[in-house]
This record gives sequence, structure tokens and C-alpha cells, in this order.
Amino acid sequence: MRNFSEDHSDLALNTATLGHLMEGCGAGWSPERIIDACAERGFGAIAWWRREIGKRGFEIGERTRSAGLEVSGLCRAPFLVGPLTPGGRQEVIDDFKLAIEIASDLGARCLTVCAGGVIEGSHSITESLKEVASIVADMAQYAESSGVRLAVEPLHPVYGASRSCLVTVRDAVNMCEDIAHPFVTIAVDVYHVWWDISLASELKRAGADRIAGYHLCDWLADTNDVLLDRGMMGDGVADLKAIRQAVENAGYSGYCEVEVFSVNNWWKRDPSEVLDVCVERFRTVC
Ligand code: ZN
Repeated sequence: MRNFSEDHSDLALNTATLGHLMEGCGAGWSPERIIDACAERGFGAIAWWRREIGKRGFEIGERTRSAGLEVSGLCRAPFLVGPLTPGGRQEVIDDFKLAIEIASDLGARCLTVCAGGVIEGSHSITESLKEVASIVADMAQYAESSGVRLAVEPLHPVYGASRSCLVTVRDAVNMCEDIAHPFVTIAVDVYHVWWDISLASELKRAGADRIAGYHLCDWLADTNDVLLDRGMMGDGVADLKAIRQAVENAGYSGYCEVEVFSVNNWWKRDPSEVLDVCVERFRTVC
């Protein structure tokens, strides 16, 4: 297992951790300011959100690299099924392609894909997953020709109805195996997998080539909002070292990306402090 106690060059920032650039969340820092603050602190990479960069993908990708950082990813493709999609299948495909193009402009290593909730009226996780796999399979070639890996992220089962009918690493790996395309991979997020005792064996089954990202945060024992009350690493109940061990035993050696959605705590703090805490926790508890 990698030793991060004196080297955090494998640490990446997912910009959601600074509250995006939303009114009332975080300090409204510009992408440029985020890049400089991460570079000063020795982060290795940044993962951006589409809402933050708009049409500036190419420019921000170049700016990130000129500061000595990589772009570890882009969040995200549209929800593919369920109540939060941008429309019917064609609208989903169109927006999915746009997300791939932005990721390509950015030079992002991967594009995060969230399945979306169970298809309305279907009452069927199985049927919903089939449609998700069908759309992801349709997009695989376009992703490859754009040089962007698709990182399908299973979410915690609490999101099954709204954001992700894909709720286990097992199902995500099955989907990758069925599609069998080298650009269809998974992302592993502590928040979504910390409870899963089959994690290590499922990640081994996935193998290094099918794991495109590892996301860090913590699950607070007294969480009061499953979307916007994530914990900073070390503040919750997840066994962070064991989870990383499982990811690395499967062969993953890429960035560890801090992704903390925290509307009432971390998003209210000075982003400089948040970044300092990310580095300190990464070195000590991850
Ligand atoms: Zn994540």
C-alpha cells in the first residue's frame, strides 16, 4: 500500500469540496484561484464539474496543466434513467456526448457517470440497469475516440430511487464485464461503498484496468443529509485504510480524490482552510 504520510502528490481535489462556485456555498473562488491554491499545496490533480467551467474546458485544462497539475476527471454525464434525466433517451445521449467532449477538451482522465434512479413506473432495478448498460455501451466508442474513459460510479443504496439504480460495486463490475469495452470502467467512492463487505473481492474481480477513480470522504455517524452532509476523512465511521487497501490490492495506483459535499460545514469555511485540512487528513488517516 502506498505511504502518503510524507508525500501527497497522489492527492486530487474534486472541486465539489469547495462548494462548487455556487452562491452561498464556499467562497465563490474562480477556477484559476482553485488551481493556484492546489498547486501551492502540492496537490497532484483536480477534478472539475461542468457547471463550474461552462465552455472553458480547453482553457481550464491548459491552465491546470501549466500549474503542474493533472485533470483527474470531469463530473459528470447526465443521469441516464429515472426522474432526474434531461429528457428522453435522445436528450440523454446528446448531453452525454457533450459531457464527453468537455472532458476531452479538458484533457480529463475520465468522465464520471451516474446511472440515475429507477425508471419511473417500472418498479424494476433490473430493467433500469439494463437501460443504463445499453446507453453506456452506446457511448463507449464515442468515449474511446475522444480519449475519455467512462467511470461508472455506483452510489449508496439510499439513492436507488432518484440518483442511481446502480448501488453496488458488484453490479457495476457486472455491467463492465457485459459491455466489455476498455473505456468502460468504474469509480469507487468511500461514501457509497464503505458498508460493503464484499468490496475487496469485487474490486479484485474488476481489476486495475477497470478502476478509473477513487474518491475520498467519510460517512458521519450522525449524518443529517445523505446528499450534502458528507464528512471529511477521519470524522466518520468508514475504515479508510482498509478501503484503500482493497482498491490498491485490485491494482489501482491512481489519484485519490477528495470529494466532500457539506453544505453546512466545509462549504461554509474558508477554502484555504479546507484545502489545508484535506492535505493533513490525507497524510494521516487515509
Ligand atoms: Zn464520487
